[in-house]
Amino acid sequence: MAFVTKTFYSQDDLQSHLKAHHPSFYFSSKTSTVIPYDKIESLLEWKREEDFYLCDLSKLPPRLELKADGNLILSGAVSWEEAKVFLKARGRTLKTSPTEQLALITAGIATSCTGERCFAFGNLRSQVVRLRYLDHTGEERELKRDEAFRTSSPALTAYQQDFKFYETFKNAPYPRFERAIDLMIGTEGQLGLVTEVEIETVENEPVTYVFLLLPRWEEELTPHLEIFTAVQAHRKSIISCELLDSNCMGYLKPDERLGTNQDVIFLEIRTADFERIYGDVLCSLGSVSADNVFEIAESKFHRIRAGVPRAIFEENSKMGVVKIGTDVQVSGERFQDLMEFYRGASKIGVRYCLFGHFGDAHLHYNYMPKKEESARCLEEFQRLYDAVLGWRGSPFAEHGIGLLKQKYIKKFHGPHQQTLFRDLKKEHDPFNQFFPQGFMSTTA
Ligand SMILES: Cc1cc2nc3c(=O)[nH]c(=O)nc-3n(C[C@H](O)[C@H](O)[C@H](O)COP(=O)(O)OP(=O)(O)OC[C@H]3O[C@@H](n4cnc5c(N)ncnc54)[C@H](O)[C@@H]3O)c2cc1C
Repeated sequence: MAFVTKTFYSQDDLQSHLKAHHPSFYFSSKTSTVIPYDKIESLLEWKREEDFYLCDLSKLPPRLELKADGNLILSGAVSWEEAKVFLKARGRTLKTSPTEQLALITAGIATSCTGERCFAFGNLRSQVVRLRYLDHTGEERELKRDEAFRTSSPALTAYQQDFKFYETFKNAPYPRFERAIDLMIGTEGQLGLVTEVEIETVENEPVTYVFLLLPRWEEELTPHLEIFTAVQAHRKSIISCELLDSNCMGYLKPDERLGTNQDVIFLEIRTADFERIYGDVLCSLGSVSADNVFEIAESKFHRIRAGVPRAIFEENSKMGVVKIGTDVQVSGERFQDLMEFYRGASKIGVRYCLFGHFGDAHLHYNYMPKKEESARCLEEFQRLYDAVLGWRGSPFAEHGIGLLKQKYIKKFHGPHQQTLFRDLKKEHDPFNQFFPQGFMSTTA
């Protein structure tokens, strides 16, 4: 057997490939942080006689259409960045804004992508009106948001009951499976391939970006917790609320760095509401002076915000280290516990930084270990995932499970989840041709 890489330039070619039922892994922009593409062949562990296909979907012809009701229809290889540019020219914008804008939107459905604007607009899955996908026979099918999820599996009711606890999380430890569209959302290409999506958009209103300089979270948490509480009631006016801690600044060019050994919280605020938010929220913070609130250009914010995770990714690749980072979201009541855990984790003597979707209690804590330090970091994260299980948080609220997080997700999947995964795989992937090494097969 061999690994064979195949690039698809048309949907017809893809349909022919699917009809042959070849075992395959399908990828788009390869920005997933849970699939280490540089060593994917060793991690896919394919020991069977037949060839295994690595299928590139990033060259499928892109198509974008804005409907009169403001919904965007897109198919093929369309990135978040391209869709944003297309919409801006038409006075609209996206409700979802992942930090990595080069990722494809069809893949974002598969990973149940979220991002910065989730603070105001919620998860991408709530914005999907309908989608089309290719099934295991190569046939294109349509799923709608206003239709219920259907399966012959008797495990569905218990699964849905379990899911209710996580309804307010960006992503639960397992996919939603309530609406028909959910078959393709967060299932990471294990049940079919997303080809077309219709998503909601919003008017491109003017927004103002500000940042607040705070003491380092390792030394003083009060201002962070005060801001976290203060922003919650203003999700209609504050569109995103992001953190880059002082350690992140070292990854930026000197002229891009903000503050002096300080943490930075960014707020994206509707300009129409700015005066009110400034007066009622920012000026009434007891632990942050208004002198430490600054305006920043939108382009600079995006450059800085995306620059940090990209730089970390590059540095780890250069050092030959697989990124050791978290994707944990907890409830507001558990946010302080999470921060205290990270404070402990920061004391083991390995380089680290903390950033992410602060307003949603969803942060990425990253270790940048030397090779010999990796095992110690993984131990620390095992302790974290055990704590998250106890707090009933979501261990991977945004970047999915892929190959790297399977070991840790197992404890979050009980018999209801395992049975439904197994039944859905049998029903929708009878030849086991869609990512057979994915979490739906390995945890079931
Ligand atoms: C710097 C950085 C910042 C990031 N920020 C965010 C963020 O804010 N929010 C967020 O959600 N993620 C974020 N991510 C993670 C990543 O961008 C997302 O997971 C994204 O959805 C992956 O898109 P992609 O096109 O790169 O997919 P790929 O990496 O190519 O594939 C990801 C998964 O989707 C499956 N897949 C791909 N295309 C399809 C398809 N058409 N149909 C079915 N399955 C498919 C693949 O099999 C794979 O399992 C970030 C990553 C980086 C490197």
